[in-house]
Amino acid sequence: MTTLRAGEMHRFEVAGARFAYLVPSAAVFALDETACAVLDALDGKSLTHEQLRNELGVRFEVDSVDETLRELVRVHALGRSESESKPQKALPVRPFPLQTLVLNVTNQCNLSCGYCYEYGEDRIPGAATEGPRFMSEATARAAVDFMLKESGESRVAHLTFFGGETLLNLPVLKAAIAYARTRAAELGKEVDFSMTTNATLLRSDVIQYLADNDVGVTISIDGPKDVQDGFRVFKGGAGSYDVVLPKIKELLARHKRHLIGARVTLTAASLDVTRIFRHLTEEIGFASVGFAPATTAAKRDYAIEGPGYDRMLAQFGALAREFLEYTLDGREHGFSNVKDTLEEIHKGMSKPYPCGAGLGLLGVSTDGDVALCHRFAGSNAHKLGSVTNGIDRDAQARFLEESHIAEKTDCSRCWARPVCAGGCYHEAWTRYGDARRPNLHYCEWIRGWIHTCLEIYGELAMRRPEFLQRLDERVGA
Ligand code: SF4
Ligand code: SF4
Repeated sequence: MTTLRAGEMHRFEVAGARFAYLVPSAAVFALDETACAVLDALDGKSLTHEQLRNELGVRFEVDSVDETLRELVRVHALGRSESESKPQKALPVRPFPLQTLVLNVTNQCNLSCGYCYEYGEDRIPGAATEGPRFMSEATARAAVDFMLKESGESRVAHLTFFGGETLLNLPVLKAAIAYARTRAAELGKEVDFSMTTNATLLRSDVIQYLADNDVGVTISIDGPKDVQDGFRVFKGGAGSYDVVLPKIKELLARHKRHLIGARVTLTAASLDVTRIFRHLTEEIGFASVGFAPATTAAKRDYAIEGPGYDRMLAQFGALAREFLEYTLDGREHGFSNVKDTLEEIHKGMSKPYPCGAGLGLLGVSTDGDVALCHRFAGSNAHKLGSVTNGIDRDAQARFLEESHIAEKTDCSRCWARPVCAGGCYHEAWTRYGDARRPNLHYCEWIRGWIHTCLEIYGELAMRRPEFLQRLDERVGA
């Protein structure tokens, strides 16, 4: 006789309402009393339909139990065997359209940040430090042609400029933008542009150019003066805060069409997330702030470890709840980590890969080699072709095969995998010397964070569903 068992899920409760995050389908499912009773009855065991009816029939109408069972089976909250919920190894259909190309227009930088993954002790051999210091205009044009070709049928492609310090090669950035506009128009496509900078070289004319050309800007900045000057220093050791502050304020005042975002690197020495957030939003004026822990080997003294992750999680949780209060009031809140995770949850997709690297996103080194993403640009071990010769399909297929979630044993048993999928390849390379390994050092933190975001998602679903409908537009964009 067929028995039923609970599928793989993570249950959570918000203000008395109960939900299940269904792992194989990545769906958030509201549970009524009967559904909770069914799942409780199946906790750790298998029962037949008849046994469930008998057990629950004393508390609920039999018709209601039957209907609940049908519904739970329909959404795969109940299954017939354990293997139904294991990730299946379905590789993406190729060729997969390229959505974002990141050009490392230079591997040089005028700052010497203590935690830098490009130049610090954790750099990838060969990446950044070898090859030409600046990308040539010819390579940038070839990269644009490569991007437009590999974007396939997509009407819009995204071109992002990165470094080193991106603005050290402003002439090539400008030339690439002009060329991309012309070529895209000829092909009936559009390109949108963005860049990351440390803000030290944002002169008035540069700001005007970025505003006139609708280039989205992300500023790498760590917070108030004492925090920024702790790691983000010039080569002689002087802090950069006083240099960048007036430039950022001018950028924020004059570049209005794009949301200018701040991107903060957290270290064991600077984990005061709330203070940093307040400074960047209320005192400087950023509308959006995102945080990421420094990518580093565990042995560095600035590496965030166990208690540091707990502290970070507590502060992220407090800011996320503030985000919720703002959203319920119909006000904007700039904590981008929570928005990004809510968007991931809302997509309802169990990801086979943590990010688009090597698939819809590629990085280009100064000499035109194509790599998994900008952080691997220039690394021979992570090369996936070149802008002139195209994507090395064998190398790409090998990587996608080996880094699939189904190959990550610990992840294939983890409820957080639809969003995490093993985490950043570059973080894994830095920690374990292998981009294909899951980032098991931060599982507790990542599960805690996704749990927090699920609670917020559940509360928004109940109290402000129109916010989630707006996410539909962003996800579908
Ligand atoms: S890295 Fe950890 S948290 Fe992420 S999916 Fe794998 S086991 Fe889960
Ligand atoms: S591998 Fe890491 S750094 Fe590269 S795109 Fe993915 S998440 Fe970002």
